[in-house]
Amino acid sequence: MKVGVVGGGQLGRMLGLAGLPLGFQFRFLEPSNDAPSAHLGEIIRAAYDDSDGLERFARDLSCATYEFENIPAATAQWLDERLTLAPTARALAIAQDRVVEKATFRELGIPVQATASIASELDIPLALERVALPAVLKTRRLGYDGKGQRTLLADSGDSIACVRNAWNELGRVPCLLESFVTFSAEVSQIAVRGRTRSHSRAIAFYPLTQNEHRGGILWKSQTPAPCDPTGELAQSAQEYVTRLMESIDYIGVIAVEFFVTPSGLVANELAPRVHNSGHWTIDGAVTSQFENHLRAVAGLPLGSTDPRGASVMINLVGRVPIAARVFDVAHTHLHLYGKGSRAGRKLGHVTLTAPTALDLAEPVAAVEQLAAWQT
Ligand code: AMP
Repeated sequence: MKVGVVGGGQLGRMLGLAGLPLGFQFRFLEPSNDAPSAHLGEIIRAAYDDSDGLERFARDLSCATYEFENIPAATAQWLDERLTLAPTARALAIAQDRVVEKATFRELGIPVQATASIASELDIPLALERVALPAVLKTRRLGYDGKGQRTLLADSGDSIACVRNAWNELGRVPCLLESFVTFSAEVSQIAVRGRTRSHSRAIAFYPLTQNEHRGGILWKSQTPAPCDPTGELAQSAQEYVTRLMESIDYIGVIAVEFFVTPSGLVANELAPRVHNSGHWTIDGAVTSQFENHLRAVAGLPLGSTDPRGASVMINLVGRVPIAARVFDVAHTHLHLYGKGSRAGRKLGHVTLTAPTALDLAEPVAAVEQLAAWQT
């Protein structure tokens, strides 16, 4: 079966690497000419909103997915009407707009922090009545890896001026002001929902993953999550994600990121796709998130999401360590995306997998040294 993938970045590459041995073929829609997915299938080199490119991409495909959230909503809608797009254009539309995303969580009874939207300068005083500083101002659209956001401290003097300055810096585009959440940890729940009737659209959950960010970019993911020794957080994450997936008839892999607070989980955002915090599943789970996503998109039964032990994933950002030094460390698996080096760019990751978290303590410290990047 040929699967269309909108976007040819590292997520597309890992989908391809997971799918080729299973007999899947791929067609990527990708505007750049040095995409990480370039050797894994046919490439339609066109902008995401190029109608001719889209026609060529969709021709004779029965299903497609996307590996990149910032594709134009009209492109997703166009594909949704012609073939099985999974996740649907609706799921993408929710994730593309932070205001809609937070409203969706709220409607489903999934806890979120206080928020207020800001479309013009005139909205700032009212927004501050609902959301006091400290707060985070984020662009409604097109933010990723901590880009398009400013943290506003409580002691920054005139709070209206402070928000106005941040809003100006973000380009005076529609924004969302969110209360700053004091969290003890960040976690993500990765889940997959199939589309076959025989499997009654079953949902399978990967173990809860604990994430650490540096400068807004994911640095490290750990599973089992050290912050959830009793499994209580995983249980509420699974309940919330089930509610979300069922309410929009979601198909494929989803990642929902939460803050861990004294009163429980607070939802931060959702990604309607395979996710960086699930990269450990390639080496550390019975079926990777990439394979399960493809199975769901293609209407095939899902594979087991059971872990093979404990795993830690460390991102390689800006530069890649010498491979031999990584291989020198026990339990390591190196994944490179074939991208040129640039500060702040995700170039690869290392996953360490062993029977227990204790086995990983020393090797993880060694890889952290090799991978360290400046923020
Ligand atoms: P996001 O782009 O929303 O995933 O934000 C990137 C990172 O910024 C998150 O993983 C958090 O570490 C931090 N962050 C985002 N929103 C908030 C918030 N409301 N309160 C505290 N930290 C935040």
